[in-house]
Amino acid sequence: MQKYITQAEQDLLHTYNRYRIVFDRGEGVYLYDKEGKRYLDFFSGIAVNALGYHYKDFDAVLKAQVDKLLHISNYFYNEPAVLAAAKLKKASGMDRVFFTNSGAEAIEGALKAARKYARTKGGQEGGLAGGEIIAMNHSFHGRTMGALSVTGNPHYREAFEPLVGDIRFADMNDFESVLGQVTEKTCAILFETVQGEGGIYPARKEFMEQVKALCEERDILLILDEIQCGMGRTGKMFAWQHYGIKPDIMACAKAIGGGVPVGAFLMTEKTAEKSLGAGDHGTTYGGNPLACCAVSKMLDLFEENDIIGHVQEIAPWLEEQLDALVSEFDFISARRGLGLMQGLECSVPVGGIISRCLEMGLVLINAGSNILRFVPPLVITREHVGEMVRILREALKYEL
Ligand SMILES: *Cc1c(COP(=O)(O)O)cnc(C)c1O
Repeated sequence: MQKYITQAEQDLLHTYNRYRIVFDRGEGVYLYDKEGKRYLDFFSGIAVNALGYHYKDFDAVLKAQVDKLLHISNYFYNEPAVLAAAKLKKASGMDRVFFTNSGAEAIEGALKAARKYARTKGGQEGGLAGGEIIAMNHSFHGRTMGALSVTGNPHYREAFEPLVGDIRFADMNDFESVLGQVTEKTCAILFETVQGEGGIYPARKEFMEQVKALCEERDILLILDEIQCGMGRTGKMFAWQHYGIKPDIMACAKAIGGGVPVGAFLMTEKTAEKSLGAGDHGTTYGGNPLACCAVSKMLDLFEENDIIGHVQEIAPWLEEQLDALVSEFDFISARRGLGLMQGLECSVPVGGIISRCLEMGLVLINAGSNILRFVPPLVITREHVGEMVRILREALKYEL
């Protein structure tokens, strides 16, 4: 592995503090490095590999698509995109789909849709122009300039300012703080249904309901970022489905392609009518047949194998095991999460714990410096949870 690491250090831009492991292949919920060492994966390539590695029939469908057509652009229709859009609509109850190449690009599209909506609000072009968007502190929406503008972490933003203007920040789960940022120019309120990078904070039901009611009352768009928490991870296809409300726009990516790079933003018909029209937005690769074939097959496999039912069954077991660790170790102060998106908050930095887990053959990540994040493939079993906890417990003992 060392020769690859030395080469990479010379060639790649140093934008990450990477772990010194070169992964070579995956099988089920296990990864193997270049030296053949096996690792249990509770990371899923950052909540992407929802069905683990080489899930039955997934590869075959992608290979068949490679033999047919990889790319055609949005100047034409293609069958996988049409099928994937219909299935995403069915799974979400949203009405219109735009495919992107990443999560950040889905957020960019959602922001543009909101700005355009603001211009046509009130019925006439330029009517009640006002493009203010409220985002949350500690949020994460991606690294492009627009996505960064709504990311509530000054550490990510500061070096790149000035960013997109007219963005105001409020506190997640604090309705009064949201209310305090609303003006007559507010066109959208954006947040992650479950904050991921910010530390695994699910939206509270009351907060969701209050924000939704405010949005309806003031003709403000509710934009939910389901990039990390969507696609079955929380035990519903989309996390907002736990709350009995529906967003006007939703951004997806990560797990929807099961490892093939793809994202999407979806909106209701009512929003679509007043926002992006012909010529307003585009992408060369977005909606390409290979990526959409992956989305389409992922949604089929979810349904055929009741992946969501499995998440609902296995998640309480994971929660129970993590709760036991909270009681056992004084430096673990809390567990938070929804379904198979869980975090353990520690009073110590977790970097050392993660490194020891890697040495012992378990892949975990952090969310912020002191939170251990658990985003395993959704197909894990009780045995995998048991194996994870055994390794993690060993690694935690070093902190005592
Ligand atoms: C990962 C992530 C993004 C950005 O997605 P990319 O594909 O990395 O651009 C945006 N929002 C959330 C909540 C994410 O977890």
